[in-house]
Amino acid sequence: MKFNQDLSWHKRASESECLPWQHDLQGVATHEFGHVFGLDHVGQATGQVMRPSSPNCDTSNRHLSMRNKIETNDQNNHLL
Ligand SMILES: [Zn+2]
Repeated sequence: MKFNQDLSWHKRASESECLPWQHDLQGVATHEFGHVFGLDHVGQATGQVMRPSSPNCDTSNRHLSMRNKIETNDQNNHLL
């Protein structure tokens, strides 16, 4: 996985330290790893990690939800 060096990445634990134009590195990495493990996008309104986009400085996407985990397991079991 390679991150665009032209973008500004938020790498700290606290959302309050994020600058308005920064993208949350851990949240973006979690989303992209979801794709690596076979997850597709979910509806934007779900608010889940796998939605197509999230606002800058949003640190709520750093962990997959239980629903995402169940979907990942279902997809992996389907491949076996
Ligand atoms: Zn995506």
